[in-house]
Amino acid sequence: MLIKDRGRAGRRGYRLPEFDVERVGLEDVIPERHLRREKPDLPEVDEPAVIRHYTNLSRKNWGIDTNFYPLGSCTMKHNPRANEEAAKIPGFATLHPLQPEEQVQGALEVMHDLQGYLSEISGLPAVSLQPAAGAHGELTSILMVARYFEEVGDESRTTVLVPSTAHGTNPATATMAGFKAKEIGLDERGCVEVEELRAAVDETTAALMITNPNTLGVYEQNIEEISEILHDAGAFLYMDGANVNAIMGRMRPAEAGVDVMHFNLHKTFSTPHGGGGPGCGAIACSEALAPFRPDPVVEKAGDAYRLARPEKSIGRIMGFHGNFGVMVRAWNYIRMHGPELKDVTDMAVLNANYVRARIREKYRIPYDTLCKHEFTAQPPKGKRALDIAKGLIDRGFHPPTIYFPLVVKEAMLIEPTETEPKETLDAFVDALLELAEADPGELEEAPERAFTRRLDETRAARQLVARW
Ligand SMILES: *Cc1c(COP(=O)(O)O)cnc(C)c1O
Repeated sequence: MLIKDRGRAGRRGYRLPEFDVERVGLEDVIPERHLRREKPDLPEVDEPAVIRHYTNLSRKNWGIDTNFYPLGSCTMKHNPRANEEAAKIPGFATLHPLQPEEQVQGALEVMHDLQGYLSEISGLPAVSLQPAAGAHGELTSILMVARYFEEVGDESRTTVLVPSTAHGTNPATATMAGFKAKEIGLDERGCVEVEELRAAVDETTAALMITNPNTLGVYEQNIEEISEILHDAGAFLYMDGANVNAIMGRMRPAEAGVDVMHFNLHKTFSTPHGGGGPGCGAIACSEALAPFRPDPVVEKAGDAYRLARPEKSIGRIMGFHGNFGVMVRAWNYIRMHGPELKDVTDMAVLNANYVRARIREKYRIPYDTLCKHEFTAQPPKGKRALDIAKGLIDRGFHPPTIYFPLVVKEAMLIEPTETEPKETLDAFVDALLELAEADPGELEEAPERAFTRRLDETRAARQLVARW
């Protein structure tokens, strides 16, 4: 029964406290045209009905808190609850974004520290915490590159190069920022084809957007040579660092010649994500690009922290200070690990390689070398990635990313993450090996044990039913 049909007039599940301030008529404060004239059509229900409604809804959902979730490129890992506690501290959670700087020194200190930590992790001197998502960090970075060329009066830079393994947001970013996106192919190891890149780079190139490790889970071994090719042509190297849990503490992008990059604090640094919630796509950049960072950044003057507008800022890209709660979680996460942050990387890489090595006997691994935090696999001959994915649902696992990256046919992109124990990985591998042998007819019927059977994927995305 829909919750709407459970309602009865007059039923209540809440009680509001008595007014302890002088009552003002709504008409006195809200303009006439915004006042509601009719009661909204909401179910009137008691507390148990509300609790059952939301609890039942939550049980129909899959999440990292209920099941293993090896969704490649998305880093669906456990988010330690200590970081949630930190973000909930009233001194942080109840701040108003318009409070004067002298009242929010602690919050500004957290932001200033975090800028420093991300600078340390990337090796790049300047940071902005403003972007609200990974894709937003990409756009911010490429807009900064555009402003740089505008500033130096170079009008020839019209193209941004994007390898064929890029996340879909990369070419979209290049286009939104006003550039022509041009694809660069791969070599036999799954890395950027250096000679093709060399031939494509010229005075029209503004930047290359490289993901490292790329979406095949392969480390771009030629990254230094790639950065030289770009720098020799006066162009920038941008790095998509959404999955920095594959390299942090082990490789500093600046040392490989990266000029600007983004992080997904809501992937690597402990903020639950998915479904479009608040995120932070912080960026780090070189001295040359620092003056173009969005407004504001946090600076320290003497003992005081203050908000400042970088000299040639591209302007505001986000309301107020950005998503502050995400920054607190990241600050706490980084502090909890301290210099051992590299253990996160090591475990993410170890887990991915463990799963790769175990499924290899039944699945094809197109780039079968040491991977980073994720790898691509293909189902055995005659089986489809979609069917394997649906079969995994029946066995209690969230499927990996499928049909991405586009360069691998029937791709399954598996990212176990660093927070899973060996037993979970083994159970997942056992399920995959079993599915490799399963009768194709049985697989086509899956999922049989889920809340819904197989959906028409196009219609499900366009006509979302989010009610119960
Ligand atoms: C997740 C991801 C992005 C986009 O991040 P959003 O926060 O979803 O915008 C970009 N690039 C890569 C490689 C990613 O994995």
